[in-house]
Amino acid sequence: MSREPLIIDCHGHYTTAPEALAHWRERQIAGIKNPSEMPAASELRISDDELRESIEKNQLRLMRERGSDLTIFSPRASFMAHHIGDFQVSSTWSAICNELCHRVAELYPEHFATAAMLPQSPGVDPATCIPELEKCVKEYGAVGINLNPDPSGGHWTSPPLSDRSWYPIYEKMIEYDIPAMVHVSTSCNACFHTTGAHYLNADTTAFMQCLTSDLFKDFPTLRFIVPHGGGAVPYHWGRFRGLAQALGKPLLDEHLLNNIYFDTCVYHQPGIDLLTKVIPVKNVLFASEMIGAVRGIDPETGHYFDDTKRYIEAATTLTEEDRFQIYEGNARRVFPRLDVALSARGR
Ligand SMILES: [Zn+2]
Repeated sequence: MSREPLIIDCHGHYTTAPEALAHWRERQIAGIKNPSEMPAASELRISDDELRESIEKNQLRLMRERGSDLTIFSPRASFMAHHIGDFQVSSTWSAICNELCHRVAELYPEHFATAAMLPQSPGVDPATCIPELEKCVKEYGAVGINLNPDPSGGHWTSPPLSDRSWYPIYEKMIEYDIPAMVHVSTSCNACFHTTGAHYLNADTTAFMQCLTSDLFKDFPTLRFIVPHGGGAVPYHWGRFRGLAQALGKPLLDEHLLNNIYFDTCVYHQPGIDLLTKVIPVKNVLFASEMIGAVRGIDPETGHYFDDTKRYIEAATTLTEEDRFQIYEGNARRVFPRLDVALSARGR
């Protein structure tokens, strides 16, 4: 390693989109019951200046303050809300949200690359998402997708990720050489708080679905990022290793760790220390999910909980080379289209 790493944050959402977006969505939701009120996509008008203001005051300001260079930027996760309406509703909404993220990346190509949300809908064949996926990769230059393993919003009515109904999406991912972040959306099940329970449950659940299956035998190059530090996975690594053994599966290194990656959206030092000790460095990608679920300042440290770069810097078991991989090297490997785009810019 002969230079400072690029700091690539692989997990950012457009949580600060101009208010007009939420207003349009409210009208769309009202239009589900009252079709005469359904707004056209063209009725949403957001200027470049409004986009700039929403980014420069928020994500870009914090990226500069905290010293990160580039964010892989996708639509606000809790707003995906795939459980609302039918495929058409989801389809229109996805197209709008993906276009906004694309416009942000066009305005700030040095700082943002996009990942697409998919127009998933409960009970609808995942293959219906492919046209939007193709558009986002081909026209918007998306470097990854967010895949929701539970479009029902906390009721888990879809088959597990190993089910063949998901395969058309995986085939497209292989064709385009893009990874998926496995990311649920708002919980409409009162038992599960969206970001405190449903997200972490889903991270753990997705990992276990992969563990009990032979998905990566069918798709040896398929790549999933399990966000939020992998939910309960790193903390319970011994349990997962033991379950794999009891189920007659190969060692996890071989069974899952050529395909599954964890981000660093863990909001305290002991959590990052554990993650980076238990999970091989090659499987850890820097991320903050800034201006997301946990926006406050930790009174114990005086710093924002989601200022995760501090924890990586302070993790005592990491070498400089490890940090280089976590910040840049792994992201370029897991997101080859990002690597190509960066190289084309001489980065
Ligand atoms: Zn997220």
